Amino acid sequence: MFGLQPQDLLIILIVALLLFGPSKLPEIGKALGRTIREFQTGIKEATQALSEEAKSTTVSEPKCKTCNQPIPAGAKFCTHCGASQT
Ligand SMILES: [Zn+2]
Repeated sequence: MFGLQPQDLLIILIVALLLFGPSKLPEIGKALGRTIREFQTGIKEATQALSEEAKSTTVSEPKCKTCNQPIPAGAKFCTHCGASQT
């Protein structure tokens, strides 16, 4: 769609590595390895992995202990039912 090739993505990752510095090296290295694998196994699996990551971040969102609705992180009271979260 954007004419992005796998090798272009590698260049972007290398530039990101240079920008973020060695402290992010393991993280970027992991992402790089994962990206290469995903390109080998296909875009479909890559999309699946991304949606799974998005899902896992959604799961970590705090929820009300009483009504189970998502509430802001660190909220002392539920924004839906007003129940105390302490
Ligand atoms: Zn609630």
